[in-house]
Amino acid sequence: MTDTKRDGHKGFKSRTRLVHAGRDPSEQFGYVNTPIYRGSTVLYPTLDDLYARRGRFSYGTQGTPTTQALETAWTELAGAAGTVLVPTGLAAITLALLTAVKAGDHILVTDSAYRPCRNFCDTVLRRMGVETTYYDPLIGGGLESLVRQNTRVVFLETPGSQSFELQDVVAIKAVAEAHDLCTIIDNTWGTPLFFPPHERGMDMAIEAGTKYLSGHSDLLLGLVSANARWYPRLRATYDAFAMCPGPEDVFLALRGLRTMELRLREAERQGLAMARWLAARPEVVQVLHPALPQCPGHALWKRDFLGSTGLFSVLLAPFSREALAAMLDGLELFGMGYSWGGFESLVIPFDCRTYRTATQWNPPGPALRFSIGLEDIEDLQADLAAGFERLNAHA
Ligand SMILES: *Cc1c(COP(=O)(O)O)cnc(C)c1O
Repeated sequence: MTDTKRDGHKGFKSRTRLVHAGRDPSEQFGYVNTPIYRGSTVLYPTLDDLYARRGRFSYGTQGTPTTQALETAWTELAGAAGTVLVPTGLAAITLALLTAVKAGDHILVTDSAYRPCRNFCDTVLRRMGVETTYYDPLIGGGLESLVRQNTRVVFLETPGSQSFELQDVVAIKAVAEAHDLCTIIDNTWGTPLFFPPHERGMDMAIEAGTKYLSGHSDLLLGLVSANARWYPRLRATYDAFAMCPGPEDVFLALRGLRTMELRLREAERQGLAMARWLAARPEVVQVLHPALPQCPGHALWKRDFLGSTGLFSVLLAPFSREALAAMLDGLELFGMGYSWGGFESLVIPFDCRTYRTATQWNPPGPALRFSIGLEDIEDLQADLAAGFERLNAHA
């Protein structure tokens, strides 16, 4: 056991790693799970120990066995040099950006980025003297033309979690390498299971643990993993903020971790079944699901990803707001609400026109994003079929 722990369970497949990573029953009286450690103060037995801050833990903000368990497991899973935990996915984004920039820098952010990320760039970073240029997610090697003398960061999110553009990570990485830019990816959709971020050349990777890691819509959590070059600076920036999550949330995330691959594979199966069913509906003009061969970005998904999840979008034909409301308000099983990746199915309408700046978003009608949960797929399809009847009744 000790040896496999030391080499990060190398040689084992991800499912095995998810079961074994980040826990050591021999350190907790044989109990399988790392318990919830609550605490601020850590006691030192002698003055020498106190002065040297000797011991595995020194103070609550520096981590506990509970937080270290998840950090270790995630580092293994992501193929990183290290991981830090923060209270939300958005905090993971802001911490990664603050790790990489200083006043006077310029950063490149995909136009498909999670919207609150843009808000941070346009307000806090701008006030700090960091300028943001948004780029077309499909730009690929054309990113070169946007690089300036003071450009420091390329921020990616692929696929975009509303509009599902797939970015050419290889071409973008080549530009970043040529100009020594820090690459940061919001990897929440793929997770390290379906997109191993550091193997793909990313310096820092963000995961909203709120989504598939939790899997149960009962917590908020963010993780930032980094490669060997960026981890020391990430950890130092993290320590400067002391933005630590609470131990119960970390414990629940560890519990979610053990079943994450099972849940993702099921989300993939359910998501694909629903996407194919929606593709055959006359009201649907286009399905935006990277794993369907007829969908945009499929070739890049096939090249770079190891699977797909249960989150995708569709573009509908033109329908009025009243018709859409009739469809959505009457749904029995699908909930309407933000976030995703839980056990329950969700749907939201979205409109990228309200915030995009580098690209035109011109859907023919309303756009809907689905997070397909674990319900029976035929029950879900019947719920949507009834919804489409209400939609058509108002057309
Ligand atoms: C939800 C989400 C986040 C933010 O996570 P929170 O925990 O809700 O702050 C970041 N990026 C993506 C792609 C997300 O879907």
